[in-house]
Amino acid sequence: GAALGPPALKQVKLEKESELRIEVSFNTSLHLRLLSGNAEIFGTEMPPQNWLVFPPKMKFAIFTWYGATIEMQENTETDYVADETSMISYANVHAVLEERRNRAKASASDSHVSQGPRVIVVGPTDSGKSTLSKTLVSWAAKQGWKPTFVDLDIGQGSITLPGCIAATPIEMQIDPVEGIHPDMPLVYFFGHNTPTVNADLYRVLVKELAQILKRQFAGNAEYKAAGMVINTMGFIDGLGYNLLLHAIDTFQANVVLVLGQEKLYSMLKGVLKRKPYVDVVKLQKSGGVVSRNKKFRASARSQRIREYFYGVSNDLSPRSTIANFSDLAVYKIGGGPQASASAPPIGVRRVADPMRLVPVNINRDLLNLVLAVSFAKEQDQILSSNIAGFIWITDIDILRKKITYLAPSGGELPSKFLLMGSLTWIET
Ligand code: ADP
Repeated sequence: GAALGPPALKQVKLEKESELRIEVSFNTSLHLRLLSGNAEIFGTEMPPQNWLVFPPKMKFAIFTWYGATIEMQENTETDYVADETSMISYANVHAVLEERRNRAKASASDSHVSQGPRVIVVGPTDSGKSTLSKTLVSWAAKQGWKPTFVDLDIGQGSITLPGCIAATPIEMQIDPVEGIHPDMPLVYFFGHNTPTVNADLYRVLVKELAQILKRQFAGNAEYKAAGMVINTMGFIDGLGYNLLLHAIDTFQANVVLVLGQEKLYSMLKGVLKRKPYVDVVKLQKSGGVVSRNKKFRASARSQRIREYFYGVSNDLSPRSTIANFSDLAVYKIGGGPQASASAPPIGVRRVADPMRLVPVNINRDLLNLVLAVSFAKEQDQILSSNIAGFIWITDIDILRKKITYLAPSGGELPSKFLLMGSLTWIET
């Protein structure tokens, strides 16, 4: 029968340098607090005494350097204490990065050395890449730095929705429940959760993002000295490997952290020999990283979209708006043969142009799609423009030529130009 009353509470005592690994139940949230001592969640200090509420399905660890006592509800999927963690090796990396930031800050007048570390985290899916990336930026933020977090993982997306690459300076330790919710992230829309759909477009967007950050760093010594931490996709074979090399080159990464794969480490070590300023470092995958299957990954993507509109704790009220077809202009990038006035000569194949801007007719096919709202003011700026946010198409009225969409806040869209990919969402 149904349980009566709130779930029972228990206390867990953590010895120094151990962690409590938790998978929240699939359908109820988890209340938990730090009773005594000090502890952190992926680099973010836990507040003493305050109850924290973790949403269903969340997987995380509470680590303590000197010992702590946690009080928590008993209704988890799993929870256990591990005394072998990867945190000490991660903290050693952090110490090296701190040294480089300090050196960069001290020599801010000399443009060559005033650049803080540009760290890139690579490894297969579920090796703990995004966790390590977040931990490193949270530790840096705790020391007062404003490191830039760059997320090139179109599969999940820690900064914004899946299907995008994005960057934002991190000025405060990342909230362990809410995650990263920056006011004005720099976002580029790829539109799909795998790069194979249009790898050329992916490369162009990575380049665009790197160039903008380079310009921002040139005008801001604080950001420049703090450097960046770049999270990448778990796709590391074939095309995935090429895209990793492309990202390392494009961002001029000088610290490559390889998680949990010997082969990738030795391959990167080999090709990066020709760049003596790049340190390639092998790190152990944490035993706590939870493997997520395809289905879980898809549901996490869907969850992320829901959070964008409704908030992690259902605290946002998105607005529904009705617009005329003629108020909006929807495009997709790539696909289809290149536009050409005349038919190609016999024997010449028409190649698809990966960067072609294709206008999309508004019809019922747009239903349930999540579209990106471009910052572009003119059509020819769309390809190089970043994204203001997203709307979700909830109704198309062909007869009246009206389109209904949900947006996280009311008011006018910053541009009529919308980008479409394969990102869809169905409210559950
Ligand atoms: P990747 O980015 O390589 O795909 P993640 O960093 O997202 O991997 O980790 C996969 C999952 O494991 C995430 O849900 C993360 O919160 C969880 N996780 C990572 N480290 C730990 C840990 N030490 N204990 C418990 N869960 C963890």
